[in-house]
Parts: sequence; C-alpha cells; structure tokens
Amino acid sequence: MKPLALYLHIPFCQRKCPYCDFNTYAGQEQRYDAYVQALSTDIRRAGQQRPRTGVSSIFLGGGTPTVLAPEHLQTLFTALRESFTLLPDAEITSEANPGTVDQSRFQTLRELGVNRLSMGVQSFVDEELRFLGRIHNAQQAMRAFQMARRSGFQNINLDLMFGLPDQQPELWRYSLRQAIALQPEHLSLYSLIVEPNTPLAAWVTSGRVSDPDPDLAADLYEMAADMLDVAGYHAYEISNWAQGPLQDDGLPAYACRHNLVYWRNASYLGLGPGAHSYEDNRRWSTIGDVAAYVDAVRAQKPTTDMMEEIDRRLEMGETMMLGLRLVEVGVEFAAFARRFGVDLRTEFARELADLSARGLIEITEQRVRLHPQARLLGNEAFAAFLP
Ligand code: SF4
Repeated sequence: MKPLALYLHIPFCQRKCPYCDFNTYAGQEQRYDAYVQALSTDIRRAGQQRPRTGVSSIFLGGGTPTVLAPEHLQTLFTALRESFTLLPDAEITSEANPGTVDQSRFQTLRELGVNRLSMGVQSFVDEELRFLGRIHNAQQAMRAFQMARRSGFQNINLDLMFGLPDQQPELWRYSLRQAIALQPEHLSLYSLIVEPNTPLAAWVTSGRVSDPDPDLAADLYEMAADMLDVAGYHAYEISNWAQGPLQDDGLPAYACRHNLVYWRNASYLGLGPGAHSYEDNRRWSTIGDVAAYVDAVRAQKPTTDMMEEIDRRLEMGETMMLGLRLVEVGVEFAAFARRFGVDLRTEFARELADLSARGLIEITEQRVRLHPQARLLGNEAFAAFLP
C-alpha cells in the first residue's frame, strides 16, 4: 500500500485578513474543543478505513493551527499516532502565524514530532503588514523565526506576498533581503489576488485602493527570482524556492515533500471542513461548514460534500498541468509512461507542438517543462491539457 499524505484543516484564525478567502473563521474560540474532538474522531475513522497505512507527510494548515492550545495539538497527534503508522522520515509541517506563537507552543510542536514550520510572514514592512491586516509586525515575525530556530526547527518556510496595490519595489527588495538574512530553508512567494467577496475586493471596487497591477507583480517576481538565485535558493516550483543540494529526482533537499504529492498528482487525504482528497481516481471535498462537519462526525454520518470520478484522460491532463508547475523537472517522459503506459509525446502531440511554437514550454530529451521565460504564463500552458 502506498504511503499517505495527510492534510488536516484547522479552520480558525485570531483575526480574518481582509484578502483571505480560505475556509477559516475568527472569534470561534468556544468551538475549539468540539472541533478538535470531531477532527480526532475523523482521523480515527480514516485510519480504520485504511488499516496499517504508512503516512509519509502530514500538513496542518488552515487557518492557523497555532491558535490551538497545546492540549488540542496533543489530542490530534495522539489520534494520528494511534490510527496511522507515521513513517520514520515523515515530513510533518505546521503552519504558524508569527502573532500566535511563543516558545512553549514551538516546543509542544517539536515534542509532538512536527519537523517543519511554515510561517505566514507576508512582509517585513510594518506599513504593508497593517494594510494586509496581519496580527503581527515585522519585529514579531523576526522574533518568532528566531524562537522557532531555538526550539530546534531546522526546516522552516516563510510565506511572503508581493504585488500589493502600488507596492514600492524597494520595499519588496527590503522584505526579500530580510527573509534571506534569516536563512530559511524554504520560501513561498505569492502575488496578492483580489478574491471575490473579501473586504479587499470591496476596497478595490469602491476605489479605496487600486487594483493590483499584474505588470508590477511580474517585475517583482523577476526581482525575487534573481535575488533568490544569487542567495543560493533553487526555484523548483512557480511559487516555491528551497535550499539544499539537488536530489536524485532533481529537486532540492528542502523542497516541501507534502506539496510535491499535489504537484505529482498523487493521492492525498484531507480531513476537516472544506478539505479536499484524491484517492483511487476519485476526488472529493468535505462539508465546508464547521458546525455541520462537527455534527456529521458526531452522528457518524458521511462528511463528503462533492465527489468526482477522475477518468484516465483527465488524470493525464491534470498530471501535465500540475507537473509543469515544477519548473525545473517538469513532467518526465519515463515517469508518465510508467504511470499511464503511453508516451506523452504521442498522447499530447498537438498540444506540445502548439505550446512549443508559442514559446510556453521547452522539450528536452527527458522531459517537458515550462519555458524559463514563461513561468508567469503557466496558466496558458496548463489549460491546453485539460479536456
Ligand atoms: S492568517 Fe492566514 S488563513 Fe488566517 S485569515 Fe489570515 S491569510 Fe487567512
């Protein structure tokens, strides 16, 4: 049986950021106990359905897992360890908001076996952090990082955000310099997207702030790519950079192994409201409403909201779409042939010829990948492979 990649959704935050459309809620402290109980029950149920399955990665995301009390985290990890076999080299990540952590929280995470942290820093400029509605300032983010190091975390990701309305390139350069100075093993850089039905969308509609400019975002992305290259980071995915020597699979040692499961279109199980899963050629999502999810688990009812069968053609297209996000390794012909028993150069001959002529992809002897000049045009290339 193949090892499992497990995602646990913690749908709570101390305060909701105005740009965020994730399934997460503020002011729900009174629900934490019931939620943790329900999620633990769901973990045990999932374990019973997959006896003796090994787990190769766990990702606690949200939301903000670090709003939970140490006892909550202990409850979840007890359920995990009693229900699954955590493989000795399993990558266990927790997201952490610098405004919700302290030394004891980090120590608890370490003791529970968490060996990777993903910290949502977003910027090292206080004015930008205020605009983004973050609950921490730059100094708190620095301190949180140093505290995490002192607690023994040797694999830390920082999330940064660029392309803010009228963002000054010099301030973005400053944030990147501060991040690089901390020497995290991994960096994820995301451009600010105005999601519908968020306070940010209302601000843009009313003219209170200007719409983020995609050309500015592209320039800031290029700046980041150049700086991180000089600093010794490998760009291995469109939005992700990591340190460490390249491994046999062509990826840097500190690439996020949990997220690689998504980019390789492999199986994963997501538990918690709104989480997605993909197993045995089926993709499904869990009920999004937190109270409805808790009620369903308590009543031992199914928690599935939507389920979709993935046929072979769609699976092949999605394997291309996701694999091309891995900017260096792309999709290997040999791996594709092993999985599907066909040569992707034959299967997608028309698409490859068209995208190649448009300069969006490059084809080598072993693989197809995005053209280095077309990394920000990935969506045009991805769409070509979907039915
Ligand atoms: S802390 Fe993260 S998950 Fe929570 S509201 Fe802000 S961006 Fe969303």
